[in-house]
Amino acid sequence: MERVERDFYAREQEDQEAFLSQTWCNTCMEADLGMKDAKEYEQDGVIFVEGVCAKCGEPVCTEIADDDTDGEWDDDA
Ligand SMILES: [Zn+2]
Repeated sequence: MERVERDFYAREQEDQEAFLSQTWCNTCMEADLGMKDAKEYEQDGVIFVEGVCAKCGEPVCTEIADDDTDGEWDDDA
């Protein structure tokens, strides 16, 4: 279960805002409360954004389904 850190802030601004707003909090049991202190990492080929709930401060984690996970973000040709 190797965990590889990635740079969330290397993403496009609008991607960042989307991931930071489209959350699910297991503590509040509510969607889209927002996330703070986001960090991105990859584990077993799956990318996650992890942060804390903007409402209650408990950890929240979003799994990113992304077709292009090899670090190249500018090859839409
Ligand atoms: Zn919460």
